[in-house]
Amino acid sequence: MAANKEIPYKIYLEENEMPKAWYNVRADMKNKPAPLLNPGTHQPMTAQELEGVFCAELVQQELDNTTAYIPIPQEIQNFYKMYRPSPLVRAYCLEEKLKTPAKIYYKFEGNNTSGSHKLNSAIAQAYYAKKQGLKGVTTETGAGQWGTALSMACAYLDLDCQVYMVKVSYEQKPFRREVMRTYGASVTPSPSNTTNVGRQILAEHPGTTGSLGCAISEAVEAAVTQEGYRYVLGSVLNQVLLHQSVIGLETKAALDKYGIKPDIIIGCAGGGSNLGGLISPFAGDMLRGEANYRIIAVEPASCPSLTRGKYAYDFCDTGKVCPLAKMYTLGSNFIPSANHAGGLRYHGMSSIVSQLYHDGLIEATSVEQTKVFEAAEYFARVEGILPAPESSHAIRVAIDEAIKCRETGEEKTIVFGLTGTGYFDMVAYEKFNNGEMGDYIPTDEELEKSFTTLPQVEE
Ligand SMILES: *Cc1c(COP(=O)(O)O)cnc(C)c1O
Repeated sequence: MAANKEIPYKIYLEENEMPKAWYNVRADMKNKPAPLLNPGTHQPMTAQELEGVFCAELVQQELDNTTAYIPIPQEIQNFYKMYRPSPLVRAYCLEEKLKTPAKIYYKFEGNNTSGSHKLNSAIAQAYYAKKQGLKGVTTETGAGQWGTALSMACAYLDLDCQVYMVKVSYEQKPFRREVMRTYGASVTPSPSNTTNVGRQILAEHPGTTGSLGCAISEAVEAAVTQEGYRYVLGSVLNQVLLHQSVIGLETKAALDKYGIKPDIIIGCAGGGSNLGGLISPFAGDMLRGEANYRIIAVEPASCPSLTRGKYAYDFCDTGKVCPLAKMYTLGSNFIPSANHAGGLRYHGMSSIVSQLYHDGLIEATSVEQTKVFEAAEYFARVEGILPAPESSHAIRVAIDEAIKCRETGEEKTIVFGLTGTGYFDMVAYEKFNNGEMGDYIPTDEELEKSFTTLPQVEE
């Protein structure tokens, strides 16, 4: 019986065991995620409207609530083989150090140059753009992981890649910027004077260091005003969760190979793409009534969309040019305090993750930044990998759950997503090591004030 096999430190899949189709959890959801709405008319966005901004095939994936398995084109499968399967690692050293009877596994997505899971969707989006005969794509990047992943994918497919990088990151993370340029992308600090919206923001806020919402508005404008360009986004959208399901499918296949059934599955949640991808096949089991798991989304206490946000239609960007999405949101004007997990500083959340949370299928919790870095350093010293601050949110909760098992004696199996490495985040680690890191938690008054900016949408 498989369950009696010795479990290796790292469970890898054979090439022929790798997923050949992405899994679309929407097919098994009774309550489908709410549709994107046109910000002007408040009517559901049509495929035709979306195709002005996004590639046609990605629009189909965005709107497809019924097809459970969508084949992964061979060229994308080939690209995946360069850095996948990613290992599912049994954290024996961590278990021993924590003296826990729990069994801990992590799915490590940091084994590629971009250093995170974002490459899984970047290659898919670049592929469909190329297939459509486009010249290039535009996007925004905050901390830089998405821009890096997209520049790698575009280099592989010989597509032009234009990245609007939040100015403060552009200046503070010159190495990220140079990685993108090494892969051939052009990187513009945002707000810039290359777009109308950028010039407008600069006129209204001279000297601003930018924000993600503002970079999105610039990237969208750049896409719709250049012949042969479309806009691509690294998280939040249904299509991105679909591509990221490769994480969950591999995880499930690797666990099944050894007859392991997880009790708790944990992921950090920014826009919800790695979490959604990791949990999709497991959530599918639950939705079909075939199995039960505890699924926990972890977010920063400084940007608590699921745990303290409102479930409502909201703008996806500050410039309010994107469609409205129904999601747990803090309001599109909400600017989280200077948390170091840049990838988790988004005001909203994937509509799929929001609906699953609303229906009680998944739990959510928030953690404070200093507690996250304590867990990050503990993990680095015990398991060797220097984790991204974003990923360390999941580490924090995995460790806490393993400690609970120590207290109760329960031998639970915990699986968490280790989304990336933290080599470009050493300024954050430096702050923590110097004891200069704070924990800012927004007050109820601040959140209430931000909620007043939510658009009024009749449902
Ligand atoms: C972007 C990023 C995240 C958060 O994004 P999601 O869409 O919520 O997955 C988490 N970890 C890393 C390393 C990232 O780069």
